[in-house]
Amino acid sequence: MGIKEGENRMNEVTCERPLVALRGLVVMPDVSVNFDISRKISVSAIEEAMRHDQTLFLAAQKDAEIEDPGPEDVYTIGTMVRIKQILKLPQKNQIRVTVEGRARVRILDIYQTSPHLKAEGMILPAAVPAFSAAEAEAMQRTLASIVEDFEKIGTKFNPELHKILELPSVNVVNLTNQLCANLPVKWQDRQRLLEAVEFRDRYICLCRIMRRELEVLKINQEIQQKVRVRLDKNQREYILREQMKEIREELGDDVQTEAEEYLEKLQDFKASDEVKEKLEKEIRRFQTMAGNTSESSVYRNYIETILEMPWEVMGEDNQDLNEAERILREDHYGLEKVKERILDYLAVRLMNASGKGPILCLVGPPGTGKTSIGRSIARALNKKYVRISLGGLHDEAEIRGHRKTYIGAMPGRIAASILQAGVRNPVILLDEIDKIGSDYRGDAAFSAMLEVLDGEQNSHFRDNYLEVPLDLSEVLFVCTANSLHTIPRPLLDRMEVIEINTYTQNEKLHIAREYLVDKQMQEAGLKKRQLQISDEALMEIIMSYTREAGVRSLERRIGEICRKTARLILEGERKSVRVSPKMLPKFLGPKKFDYNKINERNEIGVVRGLAWTSVGGDTLSVEVNTMPGKGKFELTGQMGNVMKESAMAGISYLRSVSDQFGIEEGYFESHDIHIHIPEGAVPKDGPSAGVTMTTAMLSAVTNIPVRADVAMTGEITLRGRVLPIGGLREKTIAARIAGIDTVIVPEKNKSDIEELSEEITGGMHFIYASTMQDILPVALEHMPSAAR
Ligand code: ADP
Repeated sequence: MGIKEGENRMNEVTCERPLVALRGLVVMPDVSVNFDISRKISVSAIEEAMRHDQTLFLAAQKDAEIEDPGPEDVYTIGTMVRIKQILKLPQKNQIRVTVEGRARVRILDIYQTSPHLKAEGMILPAAVPAFSAAEAEAMQRTLASIVEDFEKIGTKFNPELHKILELPSVNVVNLTNQLCANLPVKWQDRQRLLEAVEFRDRYICLCRIMRRELEVLKINQEIQQKVRVRLDKNQREYILREQMKEIREELGDDVQTEAEEYLEKLQDFKASDEVKEKLEKEIRRFQTMAGNTSESSVYRNYIETILEMPWEVMGEDNQDLNEAERILREDHYGLEKVKERILDYLAVRLMNASGKGPILCLVGPPGTGKTSIGRSIARALNKKYVRISLGGLHDEAEIRGHRKTYIGAMPGRIAASILQAGVRNPVILLDEIDKIGSDYRGDAAFSAMLEVLDGEQNSHFRDNYLEVPLDLSEVLFVCTANSLHTIPRPLLDRMEVIEINTYTQNEKLHIAREYLVDKQMQEAGLKKRQLQISDEALMEIIMSYTREAGVRSLERRIGEICRKTARLILEGERKSVRVSPKMLPKFLGPKKFDYNKINERNEIGVVRGLAWTSVGGDTLSVEVNTMPGKGKFELTGQMGNVMKESAMAGISYLRSVSDQFGIEEGYFESHDIHIHIPEGAVPKDGPSAGVTMTTAMLSAVTNIPVRADVAMTGEITLRGRVLPIGGLREKTIAARIAGIDTVIVPEKNKSDIEELSEEITGGMHFIYASTMQDILPVALEHMPSAAR
């Protein structure tokens, strides 16, 4: 429908009215608006209007901040309105005014500013241009689509507008004015619409404003959405974290912070990439676990162990060989050869640090200082020292550890000792390596040891618990053993064996006087002047209170004396104590060993042999009985096979030469022979009792007593030859301690005897035998006469 020119046309008239300056608000013609006023100047204007025809001018303030506006502070285009209602609000001086827009007005002159503004304005007619129906429809569709777009992004229009839009034929002027009034735009935009007095101008202005507003709204919405998404995500995480924290608090620990601490430690953690990667993986796994479960504690232990391992920590070694020598001498008496060899060994290691040298193995009877030499080597090199006791170990897992998932799993002993040392180049003493159990599991343990000690393999030793290779190539291993018999060959091949021998009484005296007494006094907290033990007393302890290859019980006895002395001093009985041999029974009780008693009278069928055992030398008596019987031959007293065989050899020899010794024919067929070696609890083996058993049998068969002050050792052949044997030093010392002065040894061992110090051999008589014929005249009271 077209709109005819001239319709609704108002004459251009001027009039005078009070004026209210509005802040942030523009009132359009044809709409009702309410607003609050409180400024005196506004209230006064309203009051004046109310006193007249209730109409007034409204014009927007250019700057909303101005409190007391003058003529220049308001826009020149405003609205002529009629007050519909005023409402006094409870707040002081506040009035809510409802007005209805009548027409645009051009403010021509503001001629009064007090008590309110008063202006002369020209009413601007709402001109309605003429346009075609098509143009009207085009304008209407444009507006409709913009409205639709607004609504798509969620803008709500007042229902009036919809009503207009839904009409079959829309008055586009009306629609435009409605939109101008209801559009949610800034007041400045509305002012522009107000100023567009011409309809076409207003329409275009409206379309521009609406399009721009739409854009702004859309962008705004996008931003909002993004912000909301981000906010939502953050919020979600925050809430989850808070919940997790609460759960953890409830469970009483905080895996997350622990894991974070571990990760932080990992930053400056020094280890190979392989170890670090593994560790990080395990920390990440730990991170996902709940507080105090057994699983998390498995991982916690593991992570802490890995973090604690000295992967890259090296101790600073002493490179000064002279200093090392000084320390070795300071710690131990004697052992010259041992010290020399250790120093040679250390020199090579110092010269060639990367060299994969053999492993030191100290072999000797208990109490001879093997362990303490190991410690002393560490001290001499200024290395950390750890001792692993292998005695009785027979499970590979003890060396290699269990997988961490095992309950109570721990690293194996090797890894644990590295952990204990805190450096990767300590001295590790493998004590009693010969005592690793010899069953099938022991074999596995031995092969694990082989890996530990093998220079080719030990740079990546695998511990089941650690799961990452451990480098043992910088460790100085020192082994100790009582004997080499039980050490498997491949292991023995990697070792440099250093023998430590039984101490002589004199050596023991030195060790006691120069080392053990001081050590024990210190342990008991005694001062030097408080206790003196005379040499004679020490010797008496060695002779009558101990019987050993080393000095362990000697040290213990001295310790006993020190403790008793400390007590005497504390109880105020004595100020100091001097121990003489006479006082020993008071401190140590009655003598434990009486050597003179060993010298018994000469007996038939009893011969003293000399034996070498892993705990030192010993004397052993061989007893033989013969009785009428059927030629049975019996051996008792825990003899090993080699020993039995040498007894058989002895009897064969005797039978073959029986006529020489006057043994009646058929004797061996009509008699039983029983050989016994007392102290049956101790297993005995080896060929060196051959001559002893043969002599005892001959004595028994011929009824000739054997000299009690003679001891012998040697292997026998079927022909009565005497073969050399080992362990002469130990055996000689044992014979000496037993008070024996004549010792028969194989001729071939002469050089061994000659090597022994005067202290051991002095005053003793050695008979060198190459056949039984050399032995018998010395051992028997008299020789049997040949067969009659
Ligand atoms: P092993 O390991 O051979 O069984 P230990 O090393 O336990 O022997 O020695 C026992 C005690 O004897 C230690 O206190 C040690 O210091 C001491 N000892 C052994 N030999 C000597 C020695 N030659 N000098 C000084 N003390 C020694």
